[in-house]
Amino acid sequence: MFVLNRVQSINNIFRQVNLIKNALENNYPLKRWLHDHLTLAILGENLSFPYVWLRDNCQCEMCFHQSARSRILDWSNFDLDVKPRDVVRDENSLQVTWTDGHKSKFDLNWLKFRSFTADNQQRYNEAIYKPKKITWSGEQFQKICTKHEYDEILNSDKGLYNWLLKLSTYGVALIQNTPNSETAIDSIVERIGFTKRTHYGVKFIVQHVANTSNVAYLSSNLQMHTDLPYYEYCPGANLLHCLVQTKSLGGENLLSDGHFIAEHIKENYPDQYKLLTEVEVEWSDIGTEDKNDFFKLYRAPVICLDKHGAVTRINFSIPQRGSHFPGTIDMVKPWYEAHRLFLALNHRFSAKFKTKEGDILAFDNIRLLHGRNAYEDNNDNVRKLIGAYVDWDEIYSRLRCLKIKLKSEDTVY
Ligand SMILES: [Zn+2]
Repeated sequence: MFVLNRVQSINNIFRQVNLIKNALENNYPLKRWLHDHLTLAILGENLSFPYVWLRDNCQCEMCFHQSARSRILDWSNFDLDVKPRDVVRDENSLQVTWTDGHKSKFDLNWLKFRSFTADNQQRYNEAIYKPKKITWSGEQFQKICTKHEYDEILNSDKGLYNWLLKLSTYGVALIQNTPNSETAIDSIVERIGFTKRTHYGVKFIVQHVANTSNVAYLSSNLQMHTDLPYYEYCPGANLLHCLVQTKSLGGENLLSDGHFIAEHIKENYPDQYKLLTEVEVEWSDIGTEDKNDFFKLYRAPVICLDKHGAVTRINFSIPQRGSHFPGTIDMVKPWYEAHRLFLALNHRFSAKFKTKEGDILAFDNIRLLHGRNAYEDNNDNVRKLIGAYVDWDEIYSRLRCLKIKLKSEDTVY
């Protein structure tokens, strides 16, 4: 027994040595990395910065254009093996003189904000890159769906910031007391940036139309879906201003958090999760609107993931799923089963509510599914919504600008 253990541990040591040897021989960057960085204590943390990165990010006016906030360093002569000749550190800054005599100066807080530790990177991601998303199921909806005043969003940066932060965190946030006009939504959009124009227009009117170009313009049940999955550059957020709500029964909105559903499927139905994240489907929209004909196609899975396995986009629409199935024939039936499961879970975990006149329901169109129960118009009461799309690029950009303005984050740039 003892001998066996010894043999095993000697084998282990050999294996470790070989691993390191291979890494050093075959992994050129690792070898360089071992010697080519500077470590310094900033606010109680030992933080390391590669020389090459420090030189690349020199903030002097020859290397970095101050008003354009952009790197202007000439990369055709850039030395990847750059080394410092001299390093001086004082209370607030680090000064490096490189072997060619060039001098760089860095603010220590600026460096810390860019440090390579997992904790600091996570902090930056949530503070500036994108706020952390919090998933929810239908029964939590009343708690997570915050209500914001139209006037406050228009007149206060803090009001605008709070609304956009909730919208990005939960994927939904409601605006109340919007004036009863078809242009009221424009002022909200302008506070963020500008709309995403699609073949349905800069804005669109959701109202019952019998010979419609889109089934959303019918009063029958509208199955849960995301809007315009057939766009490669899919509109990020959907703003729906309720101008006239139906007084009849029905017309309730349904909303579900596609990220919550994805987590649930990943945990409980791994085979279906694989199908929904891997099998590409062809989303399509073909028709004419305002005398412009269109033929949009885009192929993507229902649940799109990034390389870390995080959900980036949900695509789901029964009417806008084309009949061309780009996968193999044996994938069809299992994929349909996964598709049915996805729809059923979105219903099971959905929130049901009815927007009021003056509400603007804002939601993340690449995360949430929405739908509506059937309703009936009558002569003096015709349900009418005005909608507009805004992309996440614009929303995140506005959020970052506001965060800096309101909280004077000076280490950001
Ligand atoms: Zn420089």
